[in-house]
Amino acid sequence: MASCIFCKIVEGSIPGEKVYEDEHVIAFMDIMPVTKGHVLLIPKKHCENLYDMTEEEAANLFKAAPKIATALKEEFQPAGMNLLQNNGSFAGQTVYHFHMHLIPRYDKSDGFQLEFQPKVEQFPTDVLTELAANIKQRLDA
Ligand code: AMP
Ligand code: ZN
Repeated sequence: MASCIFCKIVEGSIPGEKVYEDEHVIAFMDIMPVTKGHVLLIPKKHCENLYDMTEEEAANLFKAAPKIATALKEEFQPAGMNLLQNNGSFAGQTVYHFHMHLIPRYDKSDGFQLEFQPKVEQFPTDVLTELAANIKQRLDA
């Protein structure tokens, strides 16, 4: 897509600090890293977000994730690593070409925070069962 900034990085019409490339994906340094070594992994083919991807495209993308994560782990020796992928503006997506963030983690003040805030300690089992049944019905359809 001509107007998409990540398509332009794929084409090479704007610069990107590439760390990995294969037939289906590229990975490059995030221009505004939240921690040292923050990398984005994207499909070469324009897909807006996860809902827009085929199973094969998703498989091709995730196939590259372990080796990139391992290279980051070896290079920066972080204490941990978060993989993050935002879908839709409410979830924080600002660039509408699918991208998975690989964010090496160093300590609590390293620039990235992720905190789950469950509202109850134990969600009612019967409600979980109903939610699961409804989701499963869609997946089986
Ligand atoms: P998200 O908020 O999940 O859509 O993340 C978009 C990410 O793309 C942000 O972390 C930006 O810093 C990054 N970004 C935007 N433009 C560029 C660019 N030209 N090169 C590298 N990273 C970029
Ligand atoms: Zn694109």
